[in-house]
Amino acid sequence: MRSEQPSGSDTPDHGPWRLWLGLVLVCVVLRVGMSAVHLPYLVTTVPYLVVTVGTPVAVLVGTLRHRPPHRAGWLTLAVGQLLYAVGDVLSIVDEWLSGDFLEPTPADLMYLASYVLVAAAVLIFIRRRAPGWDVPSAVDALIVAISAGLLTWVYLIQPLTADSELPMAAKLTESAYPVLDLMLLILTVRLVMGHGTRGAVLYFLLAGLTTMFTADTLYAVVGVVTGQTTFESWLDGLWMIALGLLGAAALHPGIRHFDRRTDTAIPDASPGRLGVLAVAVLMAPGLQLIQHLRHQDLSVPLATAACAVMFLLVLARMAGLVATQRRAAVTDGLTGVRNRRHFEDALTAECRRAARAGYGLGLLMIDVDHFKKINDTYGHPAGDRVLRELARRLTAGRRAGTMLARYGGEEFVALVPHLDAAELPLVAERVRQSIAELPIEVSDRALITVTASIGAAWSRGPRTEPAGLLRAADEALYAAKAAGRNRTVVAPAAHAPASAHG
Ligand code: GH3
Ligand code: MG
Ligand code: MG
Repeated sequence: MRSEQPSGSDTPDHGPWRLWLGLVLVCVVLRVGMSAVHLPYLVTTVPYLVVTVGTPVAVLVGTLRHRPPHRAGWLTLAVGQLLYAVGDVLSIVDEWLSGDFLEPTPADLMYLASYVLVAAAVLIFIRRRAPGWDVPSAVDALIVAISAGLLTWVYLIQPLTADSELPMAAKLTESAYPVLDLMLLILTVRLVMGHGTRGAVLYFLLAGLTTMFTADTLYAVVGVVTGQTTFESWLDGLWMIALGLLGAAALHPGIRHFDRRTDTAIPDASPGRLGVLAVAVLMAPGLQLIQHLRHQDLSVPLATAACAVMFLLVLARMAGLVATQRRAAVTDGLTGVRNRRHFEDALTAECRRAARAGYGLGLLMIDVDHFKKINDTYGHPAGDRVLRELARRLTAGRRAGTMLARYGGEEFVALVPHLDAAELPLVAERVRQSIAELPIEVSDRALITVTASIGAAWSRGPRTEPAGLLRAADEALYAAKAAGRNRTVVAPAAHAPASAHG
């Protein structure tokens, strides 16, 4: 088995999806061209059928060929497309017999079931790509959903249900299409806005599903406007393109890592995303205005409710963004522990509290020994890996109430409140041992033992102040380095000078 292919464009893996898209394009041209020269209906359906029957085959072939680690989503998509193809064949037979069948026809049932399965496939992709809750993406998708739902209600479902001549079953069937389309659109938005690898597969799926949605919506709008269902050849062309893109997604070698999470977070409020949200949020008041100008009603309670819920969702997103920013401002990006700025603020506050309440305060300054050598030997990324692992160990082993921060490049500080002088060397020694006792994996092949030197300082009473504690710990650290490293030196207590300055 070959290992991962870089996305080189001339590998044999890229042949099938290009061939398939080429075939789809030829069929689209044939389908539209044939109806322009008025060939018999059944002849014009041949290129259409090639694409619609070919799509489940393409999805299945892609899945079997590229063997993605999780096949459930792709197989569900293949079955969904198979039902779609069966629906197409049935509806062509219907059209050919030009029978006036009562809705729902068998073809309708196949189409509707296929939408449910395709939606299920997209849902499986979403869950695989971002396990757990991805709240910001879910809120964004909900905002888009409410907005699109209102639009669908006003322009598609309401006109359909208002037609009193249609039997109930037919009304329900015709309303089910926009509802299912809407569900699919929302899941598509959710898929794209959520976490996970970006790339050709995602964009093919996005393009395929939105083209499908657009074609279905145009078909419904043409139906509402003209009052009859017509199969326009350009609409068939759009559906063929949509199916072709879905097939291409599965044939693309990128499906092997399609459900892998990305390490880098998707920007939470990128300009594109804000644009989509702005359009969505303006939809309800915009619709109200348009309907008002056309002297038509828009249910006031409905529009008001949509606006209110969207306002609240936008506020929830703002609150989330502020919380994220606040967390980022006090966190060190590499290791996830507190950063130096936060530590300095916290040290000042803690000293004041300790001086007032009279409890002992310990400060450990932890500096990795010969860290430059690790960088030089194994590379900077390996050094970063060591720093992350050290932060993990220090966090896991810390005493309750301890505040841990990255003070400099390879220097950590731990502020330990409510500590007796006698406990200080024990706490410091435990920290030093937690670093040195187990080797760290710096690469797939190299395990190294890392040691650190610790300077410890302690203070109690009114003379407890930040500059004095820091200076004492720093001097102790210097002494530990000078004495040979991998050791703890405790500064003499009450080191702080009486006259604080700085
Ligand atoms: P010692 O403390 O035992 O005297 O030796 P040292 O090699 O650790 O000394 P020094 O403090 O001079 O070296 C610190 C090195 O840490 C220098 C710098 O390149 C490296 N460094 C600083 N920040 C980072 C970082 O974020 N990632 C990595 N990988 N290296 C860093
Ligand atoms: Mg060092
Ligand atoms: Mg250093």
